[in-house]
Amino acid sequence: MAKRDYYEILGVDRNASIEEIKSQYRKLAMQYHPDRNPGNKEAEEKFKEATEAYGVLIDENKRRQYDRYGHDGLRNAGYSPDFTNIDDIFSTFSDIFGGSIFDDFFGTSRRTTNRRTYVERGSDIKIRLKLSLEEIATGTEKTIKLNRYVKCNTCNGTGAKSGTGYTTCYSCHGTGEIRQVTRSIFGQMVNISTCPTCNGTGQIIKEKCPACNGEGRVQIEDTVKVTIPAGVEQGNYLPIQGKGNTGRRGGTTGDLIVIIEEKEHELFSRRGNDIIYHHLISFPTAALGGTIEVPTLYGPHKITIEPGTQPGTTISIKEHGLPNLNTYHKGDQFVIINIYVPQKLDPKEKSMLKDLENSPNICPRKKDSSKSKDWLGKIKDLFM
Ligand SMILES: [Zn+2]
Ligand SMILES: [Zn+2]
Repeated sequence: MAKRDYYEILGVDRNASIEEIKSQYRKLAMQYHPDRNPGNKEAEEKFKEATEAYGVLIDENKRRQYDRYGHDGLRNAGYSPDFTNIDDIFSTFSDIFGGSIFDDFFGTSRRTTNRRTYVERGSDIKIRLKLSLEEIATGTEKTIKLNRYVKCNTCNGTGAKSGTGYTTCYSCHGTGEIRQVTRSIFGQMVNISTCPTCNGTGQIIKEKCPACNGEGRVQIEDTVKVTIPAGVEQGNYLPIQGKGNTGRRGGTTGDLIVIIEEKEHELFSRRGNDIIYHHLISFPTAALGGTIEVPTLYGPHKITIEPGTQPGTTISIKEHGLPNLNTYHKGDQFVIINIYVPQKLDPKEKSMLKDLENSPNICPRKKDSSKSKDWLGKIKDLFM
């Protein structure tokens, strides 16, 4: 079944603000939440659909990707929400829900333990990728080498030396919170903050894993294959989910963000999806006309030069520009004709040109100078 448009699912318009999206999603989530519709498959589907749409539109990167490239673009970027069961939604979107929106709405807690869990979100990695116009014209696949943090396999991301496990945090005695009581003229004030020693987990590692020094992650050199769609342009970026850095001790993994840059081309320049190309022809070809071959991004192409072609004449070659990312419709190539003036001539060529110079059609000449003696001509010269 074809996927529905995310904006349509949430019933918001394409320019909707984050606030509108949030409020509209809350409405739908309240209506279709599985806790309120036990056993109702249709409500569950609607809930999933809305949650997926929300997950994309609330995220600036994913929304831009979706706006530009649609569902395919998201899939291409490795973003494929697959909710096999409803609880997955809460883990997938824990950062969006902030862990508490549903607690507030429904007065229920979906947390499995009482212990506060702090999950570090891994950072994104941004890399710049230079592409030639030829690569942009057809789309391409690139293999990117990068250093990134991944989960430490020795300790399975826990940071603890095998078998040593955890011990209760000495700073907060396992509560994960530091309470500070201060007295002021307004009375007693209690300030609660996350324990910095254990990051709010309430537990600390007994002995650090030697492979990652307790970080729960190690840096590796990784290779990532990236499919670049045809028609990208300078400044576009493609997020590749799950190929950024993994956070410390069981943290989530950020994205790899590939930022597109264009290599300068020795022959062509780009104007939107059109290609501009300057071509020099000889004076005889300009005067007599003929067929010439010019380069395009898709190989050599023959064009006709009309007799009497002037410098600056532009000849377009339809659909030999760059494809539009969404419609695949190609722009045009514009060939701007210039005429080469010879700089070195041998005596024979010189004499041929001198003969030409005296020929009547070689240049539009001033009107016969005898006419300027005419008084009417003089007045014309004065007023025109
Ligand atoms: Zn480790
Ligand atoms: Zn602590």
